[in-house]
Amino acid sequence: MPSPTIRTIRRRAARLTVADIRSLATLLVVAACLAAALLSGVPAALDKALSDARFMLGSQAASGEIVLVDIDARSLGEVGVWPWPRRLHADLLHAAAEAGAARVAFDVDFSARTGPEDDAAFAEALASAGPETFLAAFVQHDPASGAMLASMPIATLLSASWPVSINVPVDDDGRVRRFPLSIDVDGETIGSMPAVLAGREAGTDDFGIDHGIDAASIPRVSFVDLLHGRIAHGALAGKTLIVGASAIELHDLFPVPGAGIVSGSTVIALAAETLKQGRALVPWQPPLALVPLVLALGVWFAVRQGLRRSLLAAALAALAFEAVAAWFYLDRAVMIETAALQLSVAAVALWSLVREFDLRQFRLWVSRVETRNTARLLERVVDDGFDAIVIVDEVGRIMRINDVARRLLDLPPDGAPGSLADLPPAFVEPVREAMASTPETGSRGTPVRRIARQGDADDARILEYAVSPFWLEDRRRAGGEGHRLRYASLVLHDVTDRERAQERLRFAAFHDSLTGLPNRRALEEQLDTLAADGAPVALLAFDLDRFKGVNDALGHATGDAVLTETARRAATALPPEATVFRIGGDEFLVLLRSADRERARRLAERVVAEVGRPYEVNGHRISIGTSVGIAAEVDGCRDASVLRRRADVALYQAKRTAAGPVVEFDLSMDAARLERLALERDLTDAIEAGAFELAYQPQIGLRSGAWTGAEALVRWRHPERGLVSPAEFIPVAEETGLIHRLGALVLHAACRDALRWPETIKVAVNVSPLQFLTGDIVGTVRSALAASGLDPRRLELEITESAFVGENHRLAGIFEDLLALGVTFALDDFGTGYSSLGYLHRFPIAKIKIDRSFVTDIPGSRHSMAVLRSVVVLADGLGIRTIAEGVETPNQADILRELGCGEGQGYLYSRPLDIERASALFAGGGEERERFEGTERRAMPALV
Ligand code: C2E
Ligand code: CA
Ligand code: CA
Repeated sequence: MPSPTIRTIRRRAARLTVADIRSLATLLVVAACLAAALLSGVPAALDKALSDARFMLGSQAASGEIVLVDIDARSLGEVGVWPWPRRLHADLLHAAAEAGAARVAFDVDFSARTGPEDDAAFAEALASAGPETFLAAFVQHDPASGAMLASMPIATLLSASWPVSINVPVDDDGRVRRFPLSIDVDGETIGSMPAVLAGREAGTDDFGIDHGIDAASIPRVSFVDLLHGRIAHGALAGKTLIVGASAIELHDLFPVPGAGIVSGSTVIALAAETLKQGRALVPWQPPLALVPLVLALGVWFAVRQGLRRSLLAAALAALAFEAVAAWFYLDRAVMIETAALQLSVAAVALWSLVREFDLRQFRLWVSRVETRNTARLLERVVDDGFDAIVIVDEVGRIMRINDVARRLLDLPPDGAPGSLADLPPAFVEPVREAMASTPETGSRGTPVRRIARQGDADDARILEYAVSPFWLEDRRRAGGEGHRLRYASLVLHDVTDRERAQERLRFAAFHDSLTGLPNRRALEEQLDTLAADGAPVALLAFDLDRFKGVNDALGHATGDAVLTETARRAATALPPEATVFRIGGDEFLVLLRSADRERARRLAERVVAEVGRPYEVNGHRISIGTSVGIAAEVDGCRDASVLRRRADVALYQAKRTAAGPVVEFDLSMDAARLERLALERDLTDAIEAGAFELAYQPQIGLRSGAWTGAEALVRWRHPERGLVSPAEFIPVAEETGLIHRLGALVLHAACRDALRWPETIKVAVNVSPLQFLTGDIVGTVRSALAASGLDPRRLELEITESAFVGENHRLAGIFEDLLALGVTFALDDFGTGYSSLGYLHRFPIAKIKIDRSFVTDIPGSRHSMAVLRSVVVLADGLGIRTIAEGVETPNQADILRELGCGEGQGYLYSRPLDIERASALFAGGGEERERFEGTERRAMPALV
């Protein structure tokens, strides 16, 4: 379906084209009609009508010079029927002469002879000195021969008078509007009576009679009155008389514009008056080119201005044309033929009318088509849409329901639409509710989307739906207020997949993908809800000892398996009210919904026991231990984040102190934590300030009793705390990354100091595993040796087993590089940690430092004795030297010597000494053994 915009544009385009074509066609038809009209007699007839109308405007009076002598009904009554004896005309002529008339024109047929006396008498009267006389001559159609016959007065009469033509041209409509100036009678041009009487003999044209001259103003006398001298004295003096028949019986009558039906002599008189007054009307036909011009202008105007204005303009144009024409007629005696123009104007008016009507019809048609299309479109939308649609009317009938809806609502696919009650109950009430709303309350905003479940619990479909009421006008009760039909539409989508996907996402968001345990977010949520409810809570935090080692040494797959197994063990070991969360890495947390601290401790011990059992993973047998930190309520604080932090602090304590694998948080730990924070801060400052010193603890050959070397032990002279033990700050330095700078300082200082000792005395420097794993230990050692110039063979690096856990090529390369420099390695704290003797084969260890814990135990612990013995034997076999740490008593020294241990280090021989004292000691050759007390209390020179 095209978008609404596109549809509108298309519709507009269609309407424009079709409407234009139709409008143009109409124009062509109208123009054709106009052309046909112009070619037919229509304009001529119209022009006559228009000019006749114009005569009404004129109201000139006759000049009075011409007087009609009417052979009227009274004359006929007195004299007797026509024709009269010609003597009467002679008598009349005499009477006219007596009345002083200047000219007498007879509009009487004298072409036939009558009695000789009469003719002679008339001829004699014509000839006797009197008024100038004119006799009528005319041509007429001979029905017998079909030729035109001339009727001239008989010759006797003509000897003393002038012939003048009286032929009157009659228009198609029978009216007389024109008069010729002359006619051709038998090859002779005879001036017409009006022309001659007006003194305008010349010319052959017709001229238009100005019927605006009032015929009634032409003076007239009755023939018999003149004959018998019954006229006012002097009324005819100097006048021109026209004698003619006016009696109806004589049939000399003509219809004329304006005056109606008048006698032939009246026509002549009017024509003569026209000429005398200089009003001979000249017709003027405006150029035909004006017709298309008017048409074009009119169409242009109509298209722009619409029907009303164009009709008004047409009327004004018509009036204007007529006004101009009237002025020309009145002022210039020019008769403009405006018909063609008026017809053009009318054509334009007609066209705009037709066009408007036509457009309306057309629009109606378009809207009907659109309505039909819209209805079809909506049906398609309803039937083919992805959405399920149900439309219900006021009384609960289902007006329309599409297939999707039937499917979703479990309705039979091709049943009757049915009623609202057939829908699942979940939808009935919302539809009723929507139906109850009024147009004012109901149609606001978008309908609310709601969720409903449809079907059996297991594979229930989740449907999202919206109900919206709508109103339609009631056709049967149109016009009235409130007569609206109420409907409601129910639109549904199946959102099962979406919802399920969201459920999965929600699960993923709150669960750890590896172990399936709830994750940190889940923990935070649960803690927050429990805290809000005021429920009792205890948290148990634990992580896996040496997990990083497993991961690095045996690979991530094994690490993952260990984590999964840990999760399983913890979950099975714990009761239902305890939930295990994986917080990240090897960190786990148990949420216990109970404040019973004893119970929490028991559960913690169960976790330690479970995780403490060896793991069998991918063919490896792995021993992993754990410690647990417990945070129960100690001060009424239930804040989730506080509890979590406390559990962490307790765990930290459990791992870093000898408190045991399970440590319960108490408030003093918070203080310890704060102290540690302060320590971190101070440590940074201390490195800047150079507050570190080195103490040297001498090492001795157990058999020879000679000094063999000294171990450098770093000291921190804290401005407030005094000397701080490395056991306290080295871990902090490792965690903060300061260990690299600190380690470099120690190496430089130790190499430099060792130069002060005899060449047989080696210097042992503790190197943190971190320095191997992340720092540039090779570069540091090389620069320390270079800076001091110490023989590399005198430098021994003490490393612990944890340096090997990240065993890889890089590490191997580092060892090789260091060996190449010439330094040796001692394995520190041997016997704790992994105690994996495999390292001894693979790494170039020159010396094993047996941990103090074994030394302290001799000779009481058989286990320690056994370990000591086997270590010494094994090391011997590998050609590795041994040294025992923490030798405090001569007895320990004796036993170690007997076991075959090579060297000893401990308070028995010397406490760690400052460089001066150590140097003095070694210079003394071994006799002067430095003993115990107070050694370190003396000030030592600072490092660097
Ligand atoms: P360690 O390497 O095992 O050093 C021996 C520790 O045992 C020293 O403690 C030393 O004072 C102490 N000790 C020596 N003989 C006896 C004895 O007979 N009885 C008892 N009870 N203790 C004895 P210190 O100096 O506090 O060092 C603690 C640990 O700090 C060292 O343990 C070492 O791991 C670390 N450390 C010391 N200096 C450095 C250093 O410069 N760099 C690094 N990375 N670690 C250092
Ligand atoms: Ca050491
Ligand atoms: Ca040690």
